Amino acid sequence: TSFGFRDVKREDKAPLVRGVFDRSARRYDLMNDIMSLGIHRVWKDMVMTRANPQPGQLLIDVAGGTGDLARAFVAKAEMVRKRRGGKPARAIVTDINEQMLVAGLKRGGDPQLDWAVGDAQALPFPDGCTDCVTIAFGIRNVTDRAAALSEMRRVLKPAGQFLCLEFSRPTTRPLETVYDAWSFNAIPAFGELIAKDRDSYQYLVESIRRFPHQEAFADEVRAAGFARVEVTNFSGGIAALHTGWKV
Ligand code: SAM
Repeated sequence: TSFGFRDVKREDKAPLVRGVFDRSARRYDLMNDIMSLGIHRVWKDMVMTRANPQPGQLLIDVAGGTGDLARAFVAKAEMVRKRRGGKPARAIVTDINEQMLVAGLKRGGDPQLDWAVGDAQALPFPDGCTDCVTIAFGIRNVTDRAAALSEMRRVLKPAGQFLCLEFSRPTTRPLETVYDAWSFNAIPAFGELIAKDRDSYQYLVESIRRFPHQEAFADEVRAAGFARVEVTNFSGGIAALHTGWKV
């Protein structure tokens, strides 16, 4: 592509890693399903409805993993294109972990998707190159959140939209009680049972606790320079969508 970023070539990488990444991607998908009781698929669809993808647009999906959001973006734009015409939309899945991208590539080589290794804190893309930037369940893992937020704003075109989906805080007491029991007891137990890895799942739960709550994170998004920042709770705040615009 024209950006000059490191592109993971479909043909080069995929055969080398057969097996290993099938397993890790499957395990990763399972982990998302367990954490959210399968609801992350619905949440991702809601994120893409908000993104409102149009023919000819470009999405950069940061910490994009195996490319769920990117696939949904081009698919939704394609539905619009069938009615109204225009160019196909495109999406770049970028992730710090090449193995995640390779696992995503192996799910199927959609020609509208590109794959690029990249750190959210120093994105390998030029200023103002994309219509939309998303990050789903990724910002929590980034060390310097302010740097990542400012990078995501930098690569957006003026009037471009930023959307961030992340686990957040339940907004009612009863839900919080159930959620605490679920996350502190059930999830580490599942981790032990399914992945023989209680510690990783324990870490996951703790990282969700440490992440700022809805309003505190909205302040961080505003501090990065985004305008018209909004928070939408999903499933009573178990996850939250933060959106903002570059003006
Ligand atoms: N967005 C995908 C989804 O929702 O299915 C993947 C989410 S996964 C829980 C988190 C991803 O963040 C991993 O693929 C990981 O490699 C990536 N990641 C962690 N730190 C990152 C960083 N500094 N820059 C880019 N990606 C990062």
